[in-house]
Amino acid sequence: MIDIRSDTVTKPSAAMRQAMANAEVADDVLDGDPTVRRLEEHTAELLGSERALFFPTGTMANQAAIAALTRPGTEILVHDDAHIVNWEMAGAAALAGLQLRLVRGAPRMTEPTLRSAIRHPSVDAPRASLLCLENTHAGAGGMVTPLDELRALAAIGRSAGTRVFLDGARLWNASAATGTPLESFAAVADLTMVSYSKGLGAPVGAAVAGPAVLMDAVWEARKRLGGGMRQSGIIAAGALYGMQHNLERLEEDHAHARIFAEIVSAAPEASVVTPESNIVMIDLPERMPAESFAALAEQRGVKVSVWHASRVRAVMHLDVTRTQVEQAATVLRDLLS
Ligand SMILES: *Cc1c(COP(=O)(O)O)cnc(C)c1O
Repeated sequence: MIDIRSDTVTKPSAAMRQAMANAEVADDVLDGDPTVRRLEEHTAELLGSERALFFPTGTMANQAAIAALTRPGTEILVHDDAHIVNWEMAGAAALAGLQLRLVRGAPRMTEPTLRSAIRHPSVDAPRASLLCLENTHAGAGGMVTPLDELRALAAIGRSAGTRVFLDGARLWNASAATGTPLESFAAVADLTMVSYSKGLGAPVGAAVAGPAVLMDAVWEARKRLGGGMRQSGIIAAGALYGMQHNLERLEEDHAHARIFAEIVSAAPEASVVTPESNIVMIDLPERMPAESFAALAEQRGVKVSVWHASRVRAVMHLDVTRTQVEQAATVLRDLLS
């Protein structure tokens, strides 16, 4: 079976498991875990931030960062197809007491759509406290927002009085695709989230990075959400291994995505979104609903994910070889021909 539903399906390699087994650990809530510290320091350095804090998941990291940057009863500006909107169980509303002001823009936020979402300040209207950006944008098929554009969006938010949060679960991919250093992207935001379990092959883990003055609030929010972890060096070691060994190879996944898209595009009825990173979105003809297409593909040994009724998604990752990528693409192409 070739599983390309997500870049989260990777399994820790033997060497990664060895690094995890050998990790030096201690109680991270009581006195700090040395492996977690190493991971946090390495991450902060790469992102050009003063500090980074380790989280079990990107979702918890997003929610803690959002809570740390806002006050209940205010609004966050967020794209209508953002991970924060689609997959986080309305956490910003349920946990941080925020109203979500959805910013349109197909497939992602643009300067005009952001401007038109910002309301005229009034004592009778909730204040916008935070702008949430996402790079690469998962819902848009791993689309990259170039640095200039990201800066322009952040500037619009700041001039409307918001702080800026960057959901960079796949910021590694944005950096690999553009050559823009991670720290340049992170410098746009007050806090940046990165994930170790997407692309880097670690079993779990994410981090929030930012200036020291904000990190006490992030720490507090993490503890409140139940994210104070004890001998977490065991999992941090997997993340550290992923950063040290799998960060440099991400362009390979992007090349695989381009090859995959090119093969599937040969089917006359397929409409394939040109990939900008490791994700390929395929829009299906009317006769072929996504559910049945995914089921047929699975019968032929390829797992893709159903994105919506007429779209499936394929994601390249370190556990698929070029040969498997070509095989999988050929299966999909034949189903569409
Ligand atoms: C996957 C993802 C998250 C959440 O990460 P989990 O570790 O799955 O909770 C957040 N934002 C984006 C853009 C993602 O793709």
